[in-house]
Amino acid sequence: MIPVQSPELEFALSAVRQAMKVTMAVSRQLAHMEQAKEDRSPVTVADYAAQAVVAALLAERFPQDALLGEESSAALRGPESAGLLEKITEFVRLIFPKASAKDVLAWIDRGRGKPEGRFWTLDPVDGTKGFLRGEHYAVAFALLEEGKVKAAVLGCPHLGPGGVFEKEGPGTLSAALQGAGSWVTRADSGHFQRLKVSAHSQPCDIQALRSVEASHANASNMETVFRRYGIHKTPILMDSQAKYAFVAGGFGDLFFYLTPVKRPEYRMKIWDVAPGALVIQEAGGRITDMRGGALDFTHGETLAVNPGLVISNGRIHEMALKALREVQASRETIT
Ligand code: AMP
Ligand code: MG
Repeated sequence: MIPVQSPELEFALSAVRQAMKVTMAVSRQLAHMEQAKEDRSPVTVADYAAQAVVAALLAERFPQDALLGEESSAALRGPESAGLLEKITEFVRLIFPKASAKDVLAWIDRGRGKPEGRFWTLDPVDGTKGFLRGEHYAVAFALLEEGKVKAAVLGCPHLGPGGVFEKEGPGTLSAALQGAGSWVTRADSGHFQRLKVSAHSQPCDIQALRSVEASHANASNMETVFRRYGIHKTPILMDSQAKYAFVAGGFGDLFFYLTPVKRPEYRMKIWDVAPGALVIQEAGGRITDMRGGALDFTHGETLAVNPGLVISNGRIHEMALKALREVQASRETIT
């Protein structure tokens, strides 16, 4: 049992566990499929099926609450998508054995609620490219009230205790409750341990992380910042919000999402940030945008007023922001 009393957090943990059963079942099937690398359909199936399951569970447990998920059913409604919908329904039946294709469409669309007042946000498969490579991805789920993240769960099927990569799972669940803390458990048990960020403060000790997709991270600019700050360790490459769980556990210290060189107007989506933000903050870490501004979750689907992100163990945050400002001022960056 998690050592706090919160019906919402209990619910979020059980919903993410069920969603992970679905994504991991798709992933196991994927491992046995001979397919072209470009075929994205397995992750599409996992995405839709996991969103349908979480939306259906939320409708049962908190029927008044809105859900803002990444997916909508629009692309599944035409006759050309019948096969895909059938496949999605097959995986939803792992959790809801009597589900029909019609139920699945309705559940997915229940996940397109308005992000206002009290609502939940879900990225059913965060890190789709990681999922397809058999590497890190996360089921990311959070409750927001009036722009504040109240409860969050990151289900990371390939992140084992101690931050090690686990090929076969079951992975870990990292959970946070606002004002109370962050905890981690193996996904197949209920034994929670407190998450706490590292105490590293010296550049030589800093272990940075980076998105595998270099364009997300704006990797070349990020490396300039690391050099400026005196960070010499090679960054660990990891997809998805698993990075937040990793830093919350003290296994890494710092990562950035700098706005992409070619799309400086790009803003993160709320489901890509809110769950990880609470897990890191409640473990003693810090998250701001790349100018040092507080995150503002009151602008609908995107973090419209927050360019980029800096995520750290807290101690090194100001120094990382300073290095970033210096690099920008000296026009070493191209953004
Ligand atoms: P990552 O941490 O690189 O696996 O990315 C996490 C999430 O952020 C994914 O859902 C991406 O789609 C999204 N994301 C982050 N940065 C970008 C970007 N520059 N362009 C498009 N998507 C991005
Ligand atoms: Mg995502």
